[in-house]
Amino acid sequence: MIPREVIDDILSKADIVQIIGSYINLVKRGNNYWALCPFHNDRHPSLSVSPSKQIYSCFVCHEGGNVFTFVQNYEKISYIDAVKKVAKMIGYSSPSLNVEQRRVDDATKGILSCLKDANEFYHYVVFTEAGKHGYDYLQSRNIDNEMINYFSLGFSPDNGDITIRQLRGKNHSVDEIDQSGILIRNANTFSDRFQGRITFPIYNEYSEVIGFSARKIDNSSDDAKFINSPATKVFNKSAILYNYQNASKEARREGYIYIVEGFMDVFAFYRAGIKSCIALMGTAFTSEHAKILRRLNVPLRLCLDGDDAGQHGILLMTKILDEYHISYQIVDYHGDKRDPDDIFNQDGKEKFITLVSKLIKKNDFLINYFTNRHDLSSIDGKKDFLDDVIKNYSSFSDDIEKKLFLSQVSSLVNLDISSLKELFKDKKVDDAFAFGDFRIKKQKLTKIENSEQHLIRYMLQSMEAVEYIKESSIPVFIDDIYNLLAKYIIEYKSEKPDIDIKDLINLIQQTGGDQKMINLLISISEMKDMSPYSRKSADEYIDVIQKNLSDKEFLNQFEDAGKKQDPLLQAKLLDMRIKKKRQ
Ligand SMILES: [Zn+2]
Repeated sequence: MIPREVIDDILSKADIVQIIGSYINLVKRGNNYWALCPFHNDRHPSLSVSPSKQIYSCFVCHEGGNVFTFVQNYEKISYIDAVKKVAKMIGYSSPSLNVEQRRVDDATKGILSCLKDANEFYHYVVFTEAGKHGYDYLQSRNIDNEMINYFSLGFSPDNGDITIRQLRGKNHSVDEIDQSGILIRNANTFSDRFQGRITFPIYNEYSEVIGFSARKIDNSSDDAKFINSPATKVFNKSAILYNYQNASKEARREGYIYIVEGFMDVFAFYRAGIKSCIALMGTAFTSEHAKILRRLNVPLRLCLDGDDAGQHGILLMTKILDEYHISYQIVDYHGDKRDPDDIFNQDGKEKFITLVSKLIKKNDFLINYFTNRHDLSSIDGKKDFLDDVIKNYSSFSDDIEKKLFLSQVSSLVNLDISSLKELFKDKKVDDAFAFGDFRIKKQKLTKIENSEQHLIRYMLQSMEAVEYIKESSIPVFIDDIYNLLAKYIIEYKSEKPDIDIKDLINLIQQTGGDQKMINLLISISEMKDMSPYSRKSADEYIDVIQKNLSDKEFLNQFEDAGKKQDPLLQAKLLDMRIKKKRQ
């Protein structure tokens, strides 16, 4: 545990503008800083960061919080890890920060340890007699011992029972092996899903094995060539990137990272001396991938296969990358339809390096891509070509780039540059507002919620309001979230009468409160046109709540009062209810 004083100290010393600014681009406007919100598909700056309050909030998706919640939600890490990360970023050191490991629950810990043991076992087997045909296969694909070790490749014995017995010998229960995605249940026996296959471990960003991809080595059976771990607590197919554990370190050193389709391509890059390379493993590129890659903060080099499927994959990928404002270049295959592995094997290292070093921007890629797909000798073909390029092009980084691009398109479709200029207007950043699909509507509040929010706002503003609501003889809040929020405010104010929102958020986080409550708190704290607290106006809101109670909510309150053996409260509730019915 990190002592609370240490956490409070880190929070008071960290500057939210500096920390958030190290993740995303902030622009100062008025008293606040603004950025594209990383928590929804934002194209127009919607996230504001307040240096005076040390909080951020998005007026579109309503995500908000303090410096810890930002790092936690942006990096998708635990609260404690976010605290440590912030401490590291501001150069804060304390002995209590170093002792704790990443916090995962016991079940997850068991699964990770089981996968680690399985991986060690497979890796051991590949060098033994039981793994000989796996080893021979790897050699035949030019994967030598050094690479087998670097990528921790292995072989699962033909008899899958051996793996299960091995793992049980390491004190993993059948359930745990099952939850790790390794176990197959037969009629009376257990077996290993990957038996008789080469194993390629897949790691998460903490360099922990989270699952496997496994390749069969003989083509005699109809079984799939590759199988992957099923979805488990730790294995999420839409977010995995093969070789991320090695390549992420290399990427920071090299300043780029290649993205390819399969492991064999990663191995080809490795043999060419390029270690900063990851593979999508046969899945489509998703926004989850984009979020992981954005953290690396290096330009991507897209190098999917040269065939139609690969090049189409690149086109789709650029859309997601543009949405996430991730910079990238594209390897220019120049019509070569092979994959990187074939190119390396057939043309050799030097030609391979020359090819993957030829990088172009998206707009050039579009010209190549659509030139190959339309017949530019016909008018229809030219029109389709223009339509497709116009639909997909990105804004130009400068005038010269735009002029060169237009002159190239002009020569392809025989249209003069001035007519093209009209068609290729600079895209405005707020274009996306026209689509409107990403906007999360602010929910219309019920009368009860509206009153609850005003009462919470009073509590934030005034100690008197806190006392009044705390001492109220009838229950004030109906919804649990407001009830709990009120308790947090009471707890906070028992120590400090003036509320500092970032500290209150921290208190909520420390005791396991959720992001929804933090977002709610921020939106209440930013409510406009509020009258100052008075006992009379608080009573009015409490009255609105009581008047709008459903019969069920009333009965709940009445029963609660009964359980507390408070007949006076019961009488009072009944009285209010009768008055309400008469109105
Ligand atoms: Zn947002």
